[in-house]
Amino acid sequence: MNVLVLNCGSSSLKFQIIQTDLEAIKNDQDKVLARGVIERIGSQAIITLRAVGQPALKTAEPIRDHKAALNYIINWITDPNTKIEGIKELSDIHAIGHRVVHGAEQLVKSVLIDDNVIDQIEDCIPLAPLHNPPNLKGIYAARDAFPGLPQVAVFDTGFHSTMPEQNYLYAIPYQLYRRFKIRKYGFHGTSHRYIAYRYRKIKGIERDKVNIITLHLGNGCSACAIKGGFSLDTSMGMTPLEGLVMGTRSGDIDPAIVEFLIHNEGATVEEVFNVLNKRSGLLGISGLTNDMRDLLEEEREHQDRRARLAIDIFCNRVKKYIGAYIAEMNGVDSICFTGGIGENSPEIRARCLSNLDFFGIKLDEELNQKAVGIKEMKISAEDSRIEVYVIATNEELLIARDTVRVVLNVPRIW
Ligand code: ADP
Repeated sequence: MNVLVLNCGSSSLKFQIIQTDLEAIKNDQDKVLARGVIERIGSQAIITLRAVGQPALKTAEPIRDHKAALNYIINWITDPNTKIEGIKELSDIHAIGHRVVHGAEQLVKSVLIDDNVIDQIEDCIPLAPLHNPPNLKGIYAARDAFPGLPQVAVFDTGFHSTMPEQNYLYAIPYQLYRRFKIRKYGFHGTSHRYIAYRYRKIKGIERDKVNIITLHLGNGCSACAIKGGFSLDTSMGMTPLEGLVMGTRSGDIDPAIVEFLIHNEGATVEEVFNVLNKRSGLLGISGLTNDMRDLLEEEREHQDRRARLAIDIFCNRVKKYIGAYIAEMNGVDSICFTGGIGENSPEIRARCLSNLDFFGIKLDEELNQKAVGIKEMKISAEDSRIEVYVIATNEELLIARDTVRVVLNVPRIW
């Protein structure tokens, strides 16, 4: 089955075409046929498209909205010069899988999209005003472009639905949970689920033996405590603003800061949340950039004090969550790094895990240095009490696999 996987952000559309079926899933032989991204939708868009085995096509063109972006991709897919293996016309795409950020309590498992599911995703908009609307735009566009084709929604929040009440409730009046469903939902669930799945494969163990901490460190960052193969706790909350320090998001802060800024700066609620979402985190502390690569360079080349401070605060927050989750789980077998920073920065991994001798965590420096841009690798020393892995995430693959299983009505195996 050829699955088109769509991931629509506020001004971007990422896609992959993945050939997979139940046999390929079992044998881990799924095949990526093409991938691409259209960024800056709404203005002069930057377009990168690539059929596997062919040179990448890079161009810039005005693209009005997500519908126009999808049409651009469709024209490219069906262009005879494109040459995607096994795909000549649109009917060679057999199903579509959508990343949907927030499914709240009602949408947990990956599901075939119908009008009722769309209504429910719309109902979640107040909980994810930045994310669900572009996800829905992708769904509407795909329904128009591929009428009658099965479409599946896979939710970022889904994996965390197993968190117990004591971990997902905030210590605010219980009625607020009852009335508004204010609670921790957690995000990056497909990524944490993928890392847990790969870890199980690497170790050759059953799901109930997976007791790990996964650290997704990219532009958005989150940690997850996975016990017995299920999400026990995670750092993001009702929205993706809580938890670790991120590129531009603050992560955990004292909520009284919001009131303080409103009263003392004369800021509106929207302005304060704009600061917390877009002008905080690494960017806010350093005053330079949200890009970890550039911060590391500033620190190294120019001894920039605030770049160093931003990195130190970032790593210390990760460390605090590691400590909290080790305590909450009564010990873990492994810590797994993923995401752009987790997969590519030996230095950040080392700083997050420094001075954790009490837990017996020891990196193998050489292996840590080697683990850059690789698929998966153990980086802890032989005598480390807790193993440490780098595992490259692959949310698109899980979305494609879930799509196959939902379309064929086969329950999730993992
Ligand atoms: P997103 O969350 O948008 O998917 P990514 O997972 O691609 O983001 O992560 C982006 C982050 O990864 C950026 O901060 C970038 O600087 C960082 N990054 C990528 N490569 C490296 C590297 N070699 N060293 C340090 N940071 C890196």
